Amino acid sequence: MKNKGGMLRYKCRMCGEEFGETHVPDVQTAIIHLTVGIPLPWGGVPAHLLEIHSHEDGLGVADLIGGVEDAKP
Ligand SMILES: [Zn+2]
Repeated sequence: MKNKGGMLRYKCRMCGEEFGETHVPDVQTAIIHLTVGIPLPWGGVPAHLLEIHSHEDGLGVADLIGGVEDAKP
């Protein structure tokens, strides 16, 4: 299986919105490492299990729900 880059997706606990955040070089490796708690093998890729979702009246906490590979050219 060839490694494919893509976007990590998060879902906000507060408002339910799903959004893409942080492009990773290999979706499969990123999801496995983040889920199990192993540091990512790439320096400078700010990927986490949680993200902050900005709202007009505050901040929501968003969970990592998966990763979507880039569309094929
Ligand atoms: Zn939100």
